[in-house]
Amino acid sequence: MPRKGLFRTKIADYTAMLASGLMSLDEFEPRILSRWVVEAIKRVSQTLVDEGEEGNLYCRLCGKGPYTRKGMYLHLVRVHNSTLVDLVTVESERIYSSSKRVKA
Ligand SMILES: [Zn+2]
Repeated sequence: MPRKGLFRTKIADYTAMLASGLMSLDEFEPRILSRWVVEAIKRVSQTLVDEGEEGNLYCRLCGKGPYTRKGMYLHLVRVHNSTLVDLVTVESERIYSSSKRVKA
């Protein structure tokens, strides 16, 4: 479905932008995504990148690097696109079900 494809593209894009530091967590307030997904993107993005000396960035998923912020972003969306979506999906489902348990 085209709409679902766009959704997945957006999730991977946002996650990579946050992980690489091209966008800050404060700037990230997309209205099109549910708050479970937004929270999941924030959490997952913080686990993807190691920052080495002089601001060099390394991919924790495959160990490649060093990258600049822009290079890190491009690497994540090109190489790990479906992994980013999978990680965010699993995390958002976990957040959603745990939040329901708290309310119940
Ligand atoms: Zn990688």
